[in-house]
Amino acid sequence: MAARIIDGKALAARVFDQLQREMGELAARGRTPHLVPILVGDSPAGRMYVKMQQNAARQLGIDCTPVHLPETTAQEDLEAEIRKINADPSVTGIIIQLPLPGGLDGRRAQRLLTPEKDVEGMSPANLGGVVLGDESLAPTTARAAFELAKSTGVRIEGADVVIVGHSEIVGKPLSLLFLKAFGTTTVCHIATRDLAFRTRRADILCVAVGKPGLIRADMIKPGAVVIDIGINRVPKVGPDGKQSVDEKGKPEMMTVGDVDFEAAAKVAGWITPVPGGVGQMTIAMLMANVVRSAESLS
Ligand code: NAD
Repeated sequence: MAARIIDGKALAARVFDQLQREMGELAARGRTPHLVPILVGDSPAGRMYVKMQQNAARQLGIDCTPVHLPETTAQEDLEAEIRKINADPSVTGIIIQLPLPGGLDGRRAQRLLTPEKDVEGMSPANLGGVVLGDESLAPTTARAAFELAKSTGVRIEGADVVIVGHSEIVGKPLSLLFLKAFGTTTVCHIATRDLAFRTRRADILCVAVGKPGLIRADMIKPGAVVIDIGINRVPKVGPDGKQSVDEKGKPEMMTVGDVDFEAAAKVAGWITPVPGGVGQMTIAMLMANVVRSAESLS
């Protein structure tokens, strides 16, 4: 069996179309969402993520003004900056880029966010909302993974849903989204015994760990929906079995998920590619939260 590919890019484009319409309605009320990403230090990943947010915001006509603080910023200065941005009535959405440089407490910083402006859904109020069945500002990656699974049309109610990874940002909220839809959820983690026994029972398998090749084809139930959330950079290997190099002789890297995609696609019924799956949809869900918070604040 060859799995059908769940096209995150296409689904994200549909979300953008819908958001474009909502932006029109907001504009008619004289409102423009205004997103402020806060980046502390100079991590290339953080810069790239902010750039992606700026591009997506530009596409939709959302104002986006990143705040860039130096690597040496003290916790109290970061918190003062968050309080200032919270209090700015022109700002409708805030994101704190994690991880923060060593010594800074990201969890403490997220707790300060005004829940209505917390567009990543990581403040205690918004995470608590997910427990209560209100996912209006749910964590974006969890929502992305859920929407991709839903888009297959495979029935979630009564399905065995197995989630590998139990982080606050992905695994835990994702398990609650599936529970609300009456999936029978199992959450696995580093201490789970016999992971393959659990994953083989899954009608819907979601993996968010950060270990390439963790999920092999023999760990997947034939016909299952496989949502690969992992993002890993690994050496790109050429046909000769060696790491390939670019025209300047620099070793090349590539992005893969946690699932052995080629082999898994022969067993699964549906599968997300990496890249082109959850990552694409996450940015769309982030923009959906940005538009939603602007609507709720206007
Ligand atoms: P995390 O490090 O916070 O959590 C990792 C989880 O994996 C933990 O629950 C841990 O117990 C579990 N785990 C580790 N080794 C395991 C093993 N051998 N077997 C079973 N479980 C194991 O990570 P995170 O922030 O949730 O991110 C997970 C992955 O998802 C990373 O690759 C990250 O880059 C990716 N991610 C992608 C997006 C996206 O937009 N696509 C967003 C966030 C995170």
